[in-house]
Amino acid sequence: MPRVLITGITGQDGGYLSERLLAEGDEVHGMVHSTDEAAAGFLASHPGIVLHNGDLGDSAGLRRVVDAVEPDELYNLGGISSVAYSWDQPILTAELSGVAAAVLFQSALQLQERTGRRVAVVQASSSEIFGDAAESPQHEDTTVRPVSPYGAAKAYAHQMARVYRSKGLHVTSCIFFNHESPRRPTTFVTRKITSAAARIGADGEGVLRLGNLDARRDWGWAPDYVDAMVRAARHRVAEDFVVATGQTHTVAEFAEAALRHAGVGDNWRAHVEVDPELLRPMDAPLMVGDATKARRELGWAPTVDFGEIVGRMVDHDVQLLRAEK
Ligand code: GDP
Repeated sequence: MPRVLITGITGQDGGYLSERLLAEGDEVHGMVHSTDEAAAGFLASHPGIVLHNGDLGDSAGLRRVVDAVEPDELYNLGGISSVAYSWDQPILTAELSGVAAAVLFQSALQLQERTGRRVAVVQASSSEIFGDAAESPQHEDTTVRPVSPYGAAKAYAHQMARVYRSKGLHVTSCIFFNHESPRRPTTFVTRKITSAAARIGADGEGVLRLGNLDARRDWGWAPDYVDAMVRAARHRVAEDFVVATGQTHTVAEFAEAALRHAGVGDNWRAHVEVDPELLRPMDAPLMVGDATKARRELGWAPTVDFGEIVGRMVDHDVQLLRAEK
């Protein structure tokens, strides 16, 4: 059974990925930062996982973790995950979401050369590398043209994956479009909406304040995206893969579906207000991916559609609210 190392293991995707791999009987190791408050709880809820202290900003330490674990598969899910935060911390974002990936690729290649065993690496890339995309939907050959420090850092890691691939490392860059689940933090619009919808549905009152209601996103189900990364790691050849549903919905449509699912009914619009403070200075009006290549070469397909994603997230928030009361 493969020995696996995951950075960013306590995040949404890290959780789903480790559960999937543990269920398969793999040996799962994760790297966590000493200040990660989620680590203790994560360990308690995922018995069998081995956690290692490490810092994506400490190259020597990162190398030590890779050398100690000697993984067959390495999933790089760690780093800064918010575009907004990357504007406050552009250099830190470059270090944690850009340079750290290169350090991991170099460590994996050296491990492979030392042991003679293949080390398969998956880089969690992002649709943000396309930034102000000139074409829609975006695919693997769409021009990389980021418009935020987050996008630029991810673009560097994406390009370095190609560089290390040419040196003989099996490194896949999965270009993930938005993917959601009940584990999304409320800093993302989907979970902000579903947690508010649960409250409004229960009380029959309350207001959900949002920014751009017209933004269109390609929202998928996070465990499906985890499935794509495992398929990519185990694929015969390493390549770039766009992972997306190809379907888009507006923020307003998400809010409507969530409020209706929470029982608010035709009156849903009365509970939504636009707050100009929440509009972003730069906000792509439409992000949609073309996952034809992942479907064809990895045999991957999304299994949960938009309505079901909204429903599962609202149901989860309704349950949380009941548990609180
Ligand atoms: P992102 O696409 O990775 O930035 O994911 P988000 O979930 O943060 O944002 C998705 C879209 O929702 C963007 O176009 C936002 O401008 C839009 N949006 C509208 N209102 C809000 C809000 O209140 N919070 C957030 N996070 N996004 C909002």
